[in-house]
Amino acid sequence: MTLAQPTTQTLAQKIEHEVGSNVFLCYQCVKCSSGCPLAKHMDLLPNQVMRAVQLDDESVLESKTIWLCAACQTCTTRCPQELDIAGVMDALRIEAKKQGLPPALPDVDKFNTLFLGDIGLLGRLYEVGLMGGLNLWTGQLFKNMDMGLEMMKRRKLKLLPSLTRPPKQVEPVDPTGGKVAYYPGCSLHSSAPEYGRTVQAVAGVLDLDLVEPPGWTCCGSTPAHSTDQTLATVLPMRTLTTVEQMGLDTVTAPCSSCFARLKTAAHTVAHNETMARAVEDQLGYAYQGTVTVQHLLDTLVDRVGLAKIESKVRQPLKGLKVACYYGCLVTRPSKITAAEHPEYPLKMDQLMQALGAEPVDWSYKTDCCGGALGLTQTPLALELTRKILQNARDCGAEVIAAVCPLCHVNLDARQRQIGFEPPLPVLYGTQLMALAFGLGQKQAALNKNLVDPKPALSDYIR
Ligand code: SF4
Ligand code: SF4
Ligand code: SF4
Repeated sequence: MTLAQPTTQTLAQKIEHEVGSNVFLCYQCVKCSSGCPLAKHMDLLPNQVMRAVQLDDESVLESKTIWLCAACQTCTTRCPQELDIAGVMDALRIEAKKQGLPPALPDVDKFNTLFLGDIGLLGRLYEVGLMGGLNLWTGQLFKNMDMGLEMMKRRKLKLLPSLTRPPKQVEPVDPTGGKVAYYPGCSLHSSAPEYGRTVQAVAGVLDLDLVEPPGWTCCGSTPAHSTDQTLATVLPMRTLTTVEQMGLDTVTAPCSSCFARLKTAAHTVAHNETMARAVEDQLGYAYQGTVTVQHLLDTLVDRVGLAKIESKVRQPLKGLKVACYYGCLVTRPSKITAAEHPEYPLKMDQLMQALGAEPVDWSYKTDCCGGALGLTQTPLALELTRKILQNARDCGAEVIAAVCPLCHVNLDARQRQIGFEPPLPVLYGTQLMALAFGLGQKQAALNKNLVDPKPALSDYIR
């Protein structure tokens, strides 16, 4: 007798196929839920989501949890069974959409739709359009308006969109002199000009030759991996294939989300033949895997080196107490990033020491700030951000250093919304490097931060 083949797949089978995780390995240790920063706001805890999938309980597709997950990767990093729980959340969201189920948090779905619409139309994110469109669509016309106006006053938001298309043909560049491809991501060209300008300024001092790939487009960020796994791989692979054709062996990204998306896409293509073929079909190029993806922090510490950085210091930041905030995605998930200490990284602390500053020992260096939930689930993002700011202050920090534009917006631009008093300056690590290299406050772009950092840095400003 031959057994009939099942005509429909269970949720567990779909997840194994999409994510590569066998949910039956979950033995309910609850580590995922105890580390989840949003657990208390979820209707199902992450371990309960896993149990529901084991039981093929499709009501999980209507849960709030799968839309609330901020993709911080804490659960995936801590799971003793190496299950990709954040990936499971993505797969369930995608399955819910496929089945036409109404999202439990419609604003998050609308945000993803608008974000991906922008990229499809323009190639890169148009932040003003996204914020305005979301407010119109959700009927909350003045949401985040206070923050938006403050950013506009400092020319941190571009009023008009621009159109970008990937190049039809890529010209190789002369790789001599240790050139590194530089993927700024959308934010460094708009809401994070102080990061973009200081990256260039410190690279100049360090003889780090950064080359921006022509016609780079957005990596897709969280909205892409929440919506369509192929799109989430194709978008970053556009950049990686361009860099490979330019003949450069390394690409560096100062945005943690861009870094995570580029790194994850390269990993997926290397380990998943079907996806590699889909990428080749869509981009018309067979990626050879010759490009190393680095976060800018790794490029500075591992490639340039702390000794060289220290040798360029002209104005040591002696006595400045800095809380180094890494956020979620510089180190997580370690299976992809290969970070040695995914939950207690030290590279930024070492970098600050090389500048003469004193990094403080604190508990929130890799805790999630809420990421893109800041625009849709604002009170939750404010709650997470307040904890981070408070812990930094309690541990004696005079400033926070960050290395991601989205983390920076949440920590710096939202302090007024939080009512955090007195405010705590939040700078990009590269702004502090520019000051320590003696480039002065103008090149350090100190006038761009929403919380004025100048009083805290008065001893180091010429
Ligand atoms: S951490 Fe892993 S094994 Fe433990 S409950 Fe969560 S998914 Fe299951
Ligand atoms: S990725 Fe982060 S927010 Fe999402 S379930 Fe895991 S720990 Fe919670
Ligand atoms: S993750 Fe990077 S490329 Fe993607 S939207 Fe954000 S800044 Fe743009």
